Amino acid sequence: MNDIEKQVLKIDQVPATEDLLYEASANGQYISGIVEVEPSDLIDHDYEGFLDLVSERLVGGDLLMDITYEVVGWNPETKAVKYQVTGDPSSTYEVNVSTVECQICHREAPASSAHLHGDGQVCVLCWDDRLKSSE
Ligand SMILES: [Zn+2]
Repeated sequence: MNDIEKQVLKIDQVPATEDLLYEASANGQYISGIVEVEPSDLIDHDYEGFLDLVSERLVGGDLLMDITYEVVGWNPETKAVKYQVTGDPSSTYEVNVSTVECQICHREAPASSAHLHGDGQVCVLCWDDRLKSSE
């Protein structure tokens, strides 16, 4: 139970930010958050379309893999069903986001949160590690 929870990064706001997608991908975590789907959207889609839709709302693109979902409530105003959606984000952010290669970990990191360092770029995760270790 605890092992599984550690492998999932829960987010409060959807869609996930680039940095959260990057963090989850870098750590090999799945990402999980609550998305709402209105009745008209449910009716308009086949099953693949539904998965694309919840992926789009959770991570801002339709490339979330290995998706699972649970109904966790509904919105009385819009009649939308609330789903807790969980999936593998590792192929999601790189196609939507401009990236740079981190000179420390050599991962493709979001350019928007990378830090210039010398002649290269350092990703937000390595930058945080560096700051922590220099204290
Ligand atoms: Zn890095």
